[in-house]
Amino acid sequence: MSQKSIALVVAFFSLLQVSNAGSPFIEEGVWINDPQLKYYTFLKNNKEFVIDHRKAKGFELYGSKKLSKFLKENHIPFVKLDLVGFQKSASTYPSFEQVEAKLKTLHKNYPQQTQLISVGKSVRGKDLYFLKISKNPASDQRLPEFKYISSMHGDEITGRELMISLAGDLLAQYGKDSKITELIDNTEIYIMPSMNPDGSELHQRFNANNADLNRDFPDFTSDPNNSPEGRQIETAAIMKFQADRNFALSANFHGGSEVVNYPWDTTEAPHPFDSLLKELSLSYAQLVPYIFQSREFRQGITNGFAWYEVNGGMQDWSEFYYHDLQFTVELSDMKWPDYNKIPAYYQDNKAALLQFIKNIHQGAGFYFKETPDMTGSVSISKAGKNLGDYSFNHGEFYRVLEPGLYDFEVKNSDGKTIKFTTSVKTDEIKSGANYTVL
Ligand SMILES: [Zn+2]
Repeated sequence: MSQKSIALVVAFFSLLQVSNAGSPFIEEGVWINDPQLKYYTFLKNNKEFVIDHRKAKGFELYGSKKLSKFLKENHIPFVKLDLVGFQKSASTYPSFEQVEAKLKTLHKNYPQQTQLISVGKSVRGKDLYFLKISKNPASDQRLPEFKYISSMHGDEITGRELMISLAGDLLAQYGKDSKITELIDNTEIYIMPSMNPDGSELHQRFNANNADLNRDFPDFTSDPNNSPEGRQIETAAIMKFQADRNFALSANFHGGSEVVNYPWDTTEAPHPFDSLLKELSLSYAQLVPYIFQSREFRQGITNGFAWYEVNGGMQDWSEFYYHDLQFTVELSDMKWPDYNKIPAYYQDNKAALLQFIKNIHQGAGFYFKETPDMTGSVSISKAGKNLGDYSFNHGEFYRVLEPGLYDFEVKNSDGKTIKFTTSVKTDEIKSGANYTVL
């Protein structure tokens, strides 16, 4: 073997390893009919496979080429999903170039209210765009930071289209609708319509390396290294961007079911802010009739783990490492609804999408005016009960909380301790938000 071909083989295997480091390698998808839960527990304990969209009748299961062999050996009946292009309507959706052109047009038409940020490129070199919408988007203001990310599963497309419609509406109404103007003036809103553009272009769930991006993030219960090393390029791009920002509330959009899913996905241990998470999930679900009236989920919401365990998902990673409360919204049972149904999906979700951004104003935080690079830790307690200890960077901290009176104890990296009490009201937007200046 020549030097060159050895190098190629090494490169090929290191590529495979990159894919195996985080998410399982996905080559096959099947539907398992399992209304009696005969197979569910057995299969969910096999970490080589990925379960998704569990329903009363069964669930989707993804894995390498070994999957169907394994199922046959274990006498588990299955129906093979044609992973690429099995939804005819997929071909009627805009291409990546058309989505990109829409984002560029929005930025061009509203240069004062937007910034178009590429946080990296996909495996096949497509830009991963956030459209930032705010009063002064070019500067980093002391305002709560909110984000929406859609379609990390490339074939779950409804959210990508809703994100474009939402961005267009927010900008068109700025300066005209007083509530939207107030929201944009007091929030830094980041919208990413497409986290997996290669997957969407190929009409497939995984990225161009056959990796499931929503199983590729650090799993805090088993992987203590919050490092982008060895992960998919799209995952790493989001991780690096998040580390540089101070996001406090976010949602990521999927398809294949209709429900709002809240942390944790990875563990059955209740989240310390469980009632807040339910309240925030409901604030979305109750404004969307088809989600709220779900037959599968009471009031259209569910705890992630109670539905099915997800390891390496973006939601838990975001909350655990960055106290950026993240929710997973499943927008449509159909992964590719007829494209002409998208406006109806948007109308059904519009009020919820706006309300969910507004929720970020139900919170409290602080920033350092003189020392903007300050780092340290903060403990939050309510009526003497500790609710959590967090670290902060960039001289800024903000957390969404239930209404009430909170004691903050801030320990700066320079050894100083500062205590203050602050009150959190409902989602009423205060000018300059609810920050204590330190
Ligand atoms: Zn998904």
